[in-house]
Amino acid sequence: MTRALPWQALVLCLVVVAIMAGCGDDSDDASTEVNVVTTLPLFADIVSNIAGDRAAVDSLLPPGADPHTFEPSPSDVRKITEADVIFANGLGLEPSLLRVIGANISSGAVLVELAEAAISAGVSTLAPDDPHLWMDPTNGREYATIIRDTLILQDPGGSDTYSGNYETYAATLDDTAQYMRDTAAAVPPDDRLIIATHDAFGYLARAVDFEIAGFVVPGPGQDASPEDISDLITTIEDLGIPAVFAEPQTSVETRTLEQIASDAGVKVCALYSDALDDTVRSYVELLRFNAEELARCLGGSGD
Ligand SMILES: [Zn+2]
Repeated sequence: MTRALPWQALVLCLVVVAIMAGCGDDSDDASTEVNVVTTLPLFADIVSNIAGDRAAVDSLLPPGADPHTFEPSPSDVRKITEADVIFANGLGLEPSLLRVIGANISSGAVLVELAEAAISAGVSTLAPDDPHLWMDPTNGREYATIIRDTLILQDPGGSDTYSGNYETYAATLDDTAQYMRDTAAAVPPDDRLIIATHDAFGYLARAVDFEIAGFVVPGPGQDASPEDISDLITTIEDLGIPAVFAEPQTSVETRTLEQIASDAGVKVCALYSDALDDTVRSYVELLRFNAEELARCLGGSGD
């Protein structure tokens, strides 16, 4: 815990009150018990759903950032040193961040790598080099379970709050999983093929009974060769795929996929994996959007 002593709180209050009115009543900081930092904004969203106002939750990545290539700033280092609990994904998703977290986490704090913990808890995995386990809400539910248990260990007094919020959120994730299957069912079995920017959609495909037909590069920041690009165009043409899926955050892979789609004469749709934005602001919205987009772009009924 890094809770301020009363005199420090008083000094802070005086400083804050000089800048803005409203010090002295129950601010969020006064009621929070745990200071949580996550790597991805979507993990911060899951934590917030379970912690309610018992935790201050912040993410290291800004909403549109790419975890594969993100380099932390000095202000990110300060968030890390002040955290009681840090949730990352692991499995190679955010290598730079985990190095900086490892070097700066305070001695009493806890680091949980959610994908590693979910695998230890028994979730079934696909390719060992795809870290995007949360793209299947069944795995996201396991992330939520691990987050609940971690918060209870760190703050036993909040056990009832965390458990109650978890029950509500887990039910929402179950409903979302069903909604995704129902929505994706609009796509005929032969057309259930995803071509995307990077290898992030295997767990989404499994959740809605689709297959990955190809991707530009395994991970962001890698280069696609001319052979990779022509192979992907051949795949699109041979399989008669009407749409490919780019990730909304601008990247080299997105521009490459847009060029491939233009050459193959197919449309470019969107799927979210690592990042949130103003369209998709939460984990549940991400899951719902992806299923709706698959149905809209591959559903065969046209636009
Ligand atoms: Zn990714």
